[in-house]
Amino acid sequence: MTEQTCPSCGSPSLLSVRGIVEQGTTVTTVTSDGGAVALDGDGGVMPALTRMTSTVATSSMLAQRLAPPEPPARRQSPWGRVQSYLLSLTGIPMMFAIPIWVLVEPTAGWVAALVGIPCWLGLYVGTSIPIGRIRRRLKSRHDWEVKQWEKLVARWERLRYCSACDSVVDLARKRAVSGDEMAKLLRAA
Ligand SMILES: [Zn+2]
Repeated sequence: MTEQTCPSCGSPSLLSVRGIVEQGTTVTTVTSDGGAVALDGDGGVMPALTRMTSTVATSSMLAQRLAPPEPPARRQSPWGRVQSYLLSLTGIPMMFAIPIWVLVEPTAGWVAALVGIPCWLGLYVGTSIPIGRIRRRLKSRHDWEVKQWEKLVARWERLRYCSACDSVVDLARKRAVSGDEMAKLLRAA
């Protein structure tokens, strides 16, 4: 069994960081000689204890400070849009120009069609290949970032908060940092 005390101040009143964030209500911690009782702020039973100190934290603020790591943003490549712009810019005029050209001047028109259409297809294929490669790279990078983020969230779910000294505690690694440095604790290997 792990010892549920704060490595920084020795207080046994540790709360689940996840619980604090999920509740989003006022967290009241009552500490006394005999131990600690954590009450959620909806006016639960106050235990009759001699000599006690109490810490009231506004949890909206606390929950904000202890919020889980943000999921990674989806990476979008601008090249797909550049490609469709390029293809319509060349393809649409060609679509109108070539039939007219063929009607007016058949030989030149057919030459233009035979050169223009394969060129346009070449542009389509030639840009699709590198764009596909960029997209796959961005996707695998995003997948990797999501995996890293999931690891951070899993670590975050195990964190405890010590209201006695305003520390975020990683019990498994016996580490405590100030409440504002939670991200550092999460990222530390
Ligand atoms: Zn502490």
